[in-house]
Amino acid sequence: MANEPTSYQVEKSDAEWREELTADEYAVLRQAATERPWTGELLDESRAGVYACAACGAELFKSGTKFDSGCGWPSFYESVDPAAVQLIDDTSMGMVRTEVRCATCGSHLGHVFPDGFGTPTGDRYCMNSVSLDFTAADDAGLK
Ligand SMILES: [Zn+2]
Repeated sequence: MANEPTSYQVEKSDAEWREELTADEYAVLRQAATERPWTGELLDESRAGVYACAACGAELFKSGTKFDSGCGWPSFYESVDPAAVQLIDDTSMGMVRTEVRCATCGSHLGHVFPDGFGTPTGDRYCMNSVSLDFTAADDAGLK
């Protein structure tokens, strides 16, 4: 597991993040809160496209790796690039979990669990909708 780096490509002060993000985004991205299951607006998103970090815009996931995990949060079996996300041991709340952060700005995205059964990787990146911005391929002029 990677150690927590001391710097990110995109760094902002707490006050700047507070100003730029909505209250919900700030709570999840900067304070590692978790949105309630089954409430995220990207949960049922099934169009082709790209999911980027809601804080800095870095591309994190592609629609082709999103799957229906039944857990109530948008789930992906792999990131666009292993370097796009940062995995950190998280022992908060009395559990041993692996936190997923944006490798570009250090914002909290969710957790990854080894129970992506039936997927090519066996991983389940359990993400908060508010941590992600979705751009449909049609909108972006991509295929
Ligand atoms: Zn980011």
